[in-house]
Amino acid sequence: MFVCYTEPSRVPLKMKKVRVWNLVGDRVVWPEDRDEVFGRFLRRLKTVRVCLVNNLKDPRDGEPLDGFGLRGWPLCINATLSKSERLKTLIHELSHLLFPDAEEETIREVERVLWKKFTKKQRATLETYIPKRALQKVPSRATRQR
Ligand SMILES: [Zn+2]
Repeated sequence: MFVCYTEPSRVPLKMKKVRVWNLVGDRVVWPEDRDEVFGRFLRRLKTVRVCLVNNLKDPRDGEPLDGFGLRGWPLCINATLSKSERLKTLIHELSHLLFPDAEEETIREVERVLWKKFTKKQRATLETYIPKRALQKVPSRATRQR
């Protein structure tokens, strides 16, 4: 499939919507796409609570998980992960929230690409949203922060 890259730049940035295909495959990821996604991540992080949870399990079926980002639940990251894996998991789960229709495999690719393309400063900023202290279990939906 041929994709013309000259066209999106003519669209004013504030009107542009980054779609999942901007971030997958062997395409060039433009800094403005990366920055747009980063900005949307930050906006999400204003309304979504991030939790670090010991031995994280899926609250629906008890299956062990690295992370989950279901609507209406806090975004949870397994505390057994290393520092960089925690950040990758945060990127992964935020990508699910941003692109709710994308398949798991696609989100993994988005995670991989964003991990590579985010600047040091962007990564450091995202890291500040991951709590240092781990909870023993997933907080109930009722305690969600506003
Ligand atoms: Zn996933």
